[in-house]
Amino acid sequence: MKYDVVVVGSGPAGSVTAGYAAKAGAKVLILERRAEVGVPVLCGEGISKNVDNFEMLKGTRRWIANNMDGARIYAPDGTRVTLAAERAGNEAGYVIYRDIFDQTLASAAVHWGAELKLNTNVTGLLTEKGKITGVKAQHFEEEIEIKTDVVVGADGVESRIGKWAGINTTLKPIDLETCAQYTLTNVDVEDGFCHFYLGANVAPGGYVWIFPKGGGVANVGIGVLSNRSESGLALRLLDKFIDSHPGLKQGKPIRLLAGADPVAEPIQTVRDNLILVGDAARQVDPITGGGLTHALEAGKIAGETIGKAVQMQRFDKQTLLPYETEWKKAFARKLKRNYMVKELFLGFDDKTLNKLADSLKDYNFNEINTLGLIKALAAKHPTLLGKLLPLIKISTI
Ligand SMILES: Cc1cc2nc3c(=O)[nH]c(=O)nc-3n(C[C@H](O)[C@H](O)[C@H](O)COP(=O)(O)OP(=O)(O)OC[C@H]3O[C@@H](n4cnc5c(N)ncnc54)[C@H](O)[C@@H]3O)c2cc1C
Repeated sequence: MKYDVVVVGSGPAGSVTAGYAAKAGAKVLILERRAEVGVPVLCGEGISKNVDNFEMLKGTRRWIANNMDGARIYAPDGTRVTLAAERAGNEAGYVIYRDIFDQTLASAAVHWGAELKLNTNVTGLLTEKGKITGVKAQHFEEEIEIKTDVVVGADGVESRIGKWAGINTTLKPIDLETCAQYTLTNVDVEDGFCHFYLGANVAPGGYVWIFPKGGGVANVGIGVLSNRSESGLALRLLDKFIDSHPGLKQGKPIRLLAGADPVAEPIQTVRDNLILVGDAARQVDPITGGGLTHALEAGKIAGETIGKAVQMQRFDKQTLLPYETEWKKAFARKLKRNYMVKELFLGFDDKTLNKLADSLKDYNFNEINTLGLIKALAAKHPTLLGKLLPLIKISTI
């Protein structure tokens, strides 16, 4: 078997890369270890409305569960800050059905010419004289080898493709959120907003989220920074939150998931004959942990770059490097800035978060800029200024 491109993983990053490479004329194979694309769901299912114009999602709107007007953020003392959807980052626009979302993208990739093989676990890279020439995989009982010019590591947070290619993909505990989530039915939550709860006793180094799916159903989840966590803590804190929240405690789980989310700085994403994309490339927003919109954006760039490489029949690092340059131009500065904001916020105690929320609760976020924000903070809680001055430096990055 010989393909131009083998994409490992049929998540959003993999399907989009495969789709755009196939559209450009490449012979593409997606390998997926699961038996069904997008199942089981490992996601809060919040996404920005920026995806509305994404070509591969245009065929159907079945992936949308609920429409969000914005986000409400709750400080430890309950003070609430509201952000409109356009200002609320990459998770608050729609609540989606992630299984249908992933299947929509995979269907579009297949429609554009990619092949998809399920139940196929990639177990290693094939190399000749140090050059990547394909992948080894297990398909049920059968060991298979597939030759290819480019391997795409779209194998998610636990990615091994990058590591096998010699890229340092190690995640420090401070850069990994341990997550748990129930989908609860029979809940009574304010629809139309994604809700985020902060506090050292709520979710150390992370937050609890409520993403309403409509019809009395909501995803209620937690992310706890791994260096502030211990075994079972995320689920214990989530249960405690649900028990103490009047609209949730009568809810009954119809789904429970556990997973991890990288909140790290990006890594190298290109080698000779190899590209990393999505969570495998750590393209996740370090503040929110949202990675879907970046997976789509980077996947499109990766697919188009590979398409050009196939036309030139050149697969060295130099030829694939425009992918890294382009995705970095698109959103690496935001990732870097948000990584620094994450580090700054990790130093804040509950009192500081309360004061911050109190300063911002009446702020007009349609006119947001760093200087205005700092003025608003200084007017109400001048003692915060010292702590927030690094924001000025961060905003210039
Ligand atoms: C609990 C939780 C909640 C989240 N909530 C949100 C949210 O609300 N909004 C948001 O934007 N982001 C959220 N994220 C992050 C988001 O899910 C990821 O950023 C997104 O899934 C990245 O897509 P991907 O294609 O890179 O990886 P994935 O979606 O993880 O896809 C990787 C695929 O590769 C396959 N695979 C892995 N290894 C192999 C192998 N060796 N062989 C074959 N196949 C393989 C996997 O089975 C999987 O299908 C959340 C993450 C977690 C853990």
